[in-house]
Amino acid sequence: MKILLATQKPFAAAAVAGIREIVEAAGHELVAFEKYAEQSDLVAAVADADAMIIRSDKVTAEVLDAAKKLRIVVRAGAGYDNVDLAAATAHGVVVENTPGQNSNAVAELAIAMMIFMARTQFTPTTGSEIQGKTLGIQAFGNVGRLVGRKAAALGMKVKAIDPFLPDEKIVEGGAEPAASLEDLYATSDYVSIHIPATPETIGSIGYDLITKMPKGATLVNTARKEVIDEAGLEKALEDRPDLKYVTDVAPDNLPVLKEKFGLRVFATPKKMGAQSAEANVNAGLAAARQIVAFFESGCTKFQVNR
Ligand code: NAD
Repeated sequence: MKILLATQKPFAAAAVAGIREIVEAAGHELVAFEKYAEQSDLVAAVADADAMIIRSDKVTAEVLDAAKKLRIVVRAGAGYDNVDLAAATAHGVVVENTPGQNSNAVAELAIAMMIFMARTQFTPTTGSEIQGKTLGIQAFGNVGRLVGRKAAALGMKVKAIDPFLPDEKIVEGGAEPAASLEDLYATSDYVSIHIPATPETIGSIGYDLITKMPKGATLVNTARKEVIDEAGLEKALEDRPDLKYVTDVAPDNLPVLKEKFGLRVFATPKKMGAQSAEANVNAGLAAARQIVAFFESGCTKFQVNR
């Protein structure tokens, strides 16, 4: 089988070598298609691919139309909103992600961001400590759970909410279940967002929720920019000069927020949550193993478009 490693932003060389080893040991061919310039290049490159490994690359209906032999796409990472799932299903293409492989990297960044904001972006002013503060975790999945464990180890009180998890699972994961989303926001000095971007979550965090946060609170977003209602965020920061926002997924209105709110807002210049050497290798190797398992035994354990 021909497996296309389609990465506009390539994996580290060590990850590519590991992926190649797994794929070739199973008798398949790996074609590295990296740093391509245009989406049209990707459309051309998929023509004879049986499988694809991607990162943030966009697998649109056009890509799927052009990929006549394609049977599986694996997104090396957690979020898969860059894949047109409906079109993939219509083409009979299995879409998988590699959950958990980059979670630690993202969780460490979320913790770092809290401390960075507590210490006023490392400027020489009197900041605050996170020990003893309450952290509210919105969605208790792979990243959320790890953030909770690390925060607890740093002396924070940890609460969480996840509409798809019973309270027992939240307690098992070391957090106290919040009564509602509103309750989580109203009682947390830090809220860390870990929901996926879905039709239900897009634009779901706005003025009403953000202004429920207690005095001096900080909202941390390492999930997706789309889950924030940006106009609502801006108004909340305007009306509540004590609130802060820190994110790994810069909002479109970042220049306005920076100008208006200065050190109360910070966004990484480019999404970098999963950008650790370890996560890079883990996710790439997991994607390669999943594709090998799919062709070997039809395994679709991590399929997201059922
Ligand atoms: P995950 O799938 O392990 O967990 C997601 C959690 O969200 C699950 O527990 C699920 O029950 C919950 N959830 C699903 N739909 C929801 C909804 N409508 N409302 C509330 N909760 C809902 O994912 P993860 O690995 O923890 O990653 C979380 C998100 O972080 C990803 O979806 C991705 O968008 C983002 N992410 C960002 C980076 C980065 O580089 N900054 C890297 C990895 C993941």
